[in-house]
Amino acid sequence: MGSLHTDVLENNSVCALNPLDPEEFRRQGHMIIDFLADYYRDIEKYPVRSQVEPGYLRKRLPDTAPYNPEPIETIMQDVQKEIIPGLTHWQSPNYYAYFPSSGSVAGFLGEMLSTGFNVVGFNWMSSPAATELESIVMDWLGKMLKLPTSFLFSGNGGGVLQGTTCEAILCTLTAARDRMLNRIGRENIGKLVVYGSDQTHCALQKAAQIAGIFPNNFRPVATSKATSFGLAPESLQSAIQADIEAGLIPLFLCATVGTTSSTAVDPIAPLCAVAKEYGVWVHIDAAYAGSASICPEFRHFIDGVEDADSFSFNAHKWFFTTLDCCCLWVKDPSALVKALSTSPEYLRNKATESKQVIDYKDWQIALSRRFRAMKLWMVLRSYGVANLRNFLRTHVKMAKHFEEKVTMDKRFEIVVPRNFAMVCFRLLPPPVKDHEDETLRQSSELERANEINRKLLESINSTGRIYMTHAVVGGVYMIRFAVGASLTEDRHVNLAWKVVQEHAEAILKAC
Ligand SMILES: *Cc1c(COP(=O)(O)O)cnc(C)c1O
Repeated sequence: MGSLHTDVLENNSVCALNPLDPEEFRRQGHMIIDFLADYYRDIEKYPVRSQVEPGYLRKRLPDTAPYNPEPIETIMQDVQKEIIPGLTHWQSPNYYAYFPSSGSVAGFLGEMLSTGFNVVGFNWMSSPAATELESIVMDWLGKMLKLPTSFLFSGNGGGVLQGTTCEAILCTLTAARDRMLNRIGRENIGKLVVYGSDQTHCALQKAAQIAGIFPNNFRPVATSKATSFGLAPESLQSAIQADIEAGLIPLFLCATVGTTSSTAVDPIAPLCAVAKEYGVWVHIDAAYAGSASICPEFRHFIDGVEDADSFSFNAHKWFFTTLDCCCLWVKDPSALVKALSTSPEYLRNKATESKQVIDYKDWQIALSRRFRAMKLWMVLRSYGVANLRNFLRTHVKMAKHFEEKVTMDKRFEIVVPRNFAMVCFRLLPPPVKDHEDETLRQSSELERANEINRKLLESINSTGRIYMTHAVVGGVYMIRFAVGASLTEDRHVNLAWKVVQEHAEAILKAC
């Protein structure tokens, strides 16, 4: 109550400018573009992985929001001083962690246009251009990937932009679930089984949790080094067979092209052949690696996609489009629509009733949706298929170059074969010395190797010079070197290898 009283008293001194004043927008907008241009120009001077401690920001910012307006100049000073130190610089040329989030001028400016228009395109009527551009770019992109026409609108399939792969998998799983339950009766939901491999992204588990299938009927089928951690069709077949014998109903398979840990590729054609036998919906998750298939020499990784039911990849990973932008194609859009549509009175309109338009709200979880097609359209037009292929090939070439350096140094090894622009490697442990204590001598070779690589990675990342992350496959801890930041050049990759060698030397000396 007290603060309300002060508000009234102080209110008159504040001069209210319209929050969307066009001239202020111009002035401040130019300032922010300049700020970001300087950021990209100077990005190498920042430590790639943020060096702040948890809670750093609360110590630096006030406890409450300002009552009086503050000028943009003051706010931007704080962005520089308080926010930038807490950023991990995903656009740095020395960034090789997780998967890339490759930025581009076109991707950024497309995002700016779509944010600038700030339309909410839940159905056709709410912004016809948003819907129509989306279906057009999804067809363009589907043709670039040589998807069969059954995934395109002209072949009675269709594409939609989701926020993330997690949403794409949840929507397709829900479509598959309801299509099945409509046939066999809703009371059978407890019998439906979802398959993936032990390398499948946790997005599948989350989707299964939400869809009411996890934990009982969730099958992460084991993979091994023998198949380079791809899902073996025979393993899938036996898992399905065992479930059928137990009276369960196989529903959904999520196969991966380019797993998160090691970019392993599940053999799509033979997996689809198994799945088809049992009427299982196959989704292909190519979140990271899907974009490579616009290059003829990488298209074979998705061979067999014609037999899948849905396919998705993230344009916000390795396709020069800002987060978020997951491209999803389905052969049977009506399955999505049946599972996800609602039609309240307040959204009724003539276009929807004419049945001549797409209402994308029925293809996704949320009602409201962003105009994501704008940025994808900008990227496709600004670079063309030719340059997009060139960008991807340059990254693959740099990864190959790094791989050669690792191979030539006998202290290291490549852990799994490289498929795209990511190299998985590790430092080999030195032989145990006689004077070393008993516990160390007893610990297995593998544990020693894992420990030494954990140390190596932390010692490198804590310098901020480059940033890589790790994964464990088949019990082996390995360092992932993922090339794909748009600013990365040969000299950065050479520097990265130098940094790795320096730190490895120091660690081996200390052993
Ligand atoms: C990154 C990744 C995901 C998750 O993507 P989101 O868009 O963050 O949901 C799923 N699957 C694979 C193979 C990935 O690499």
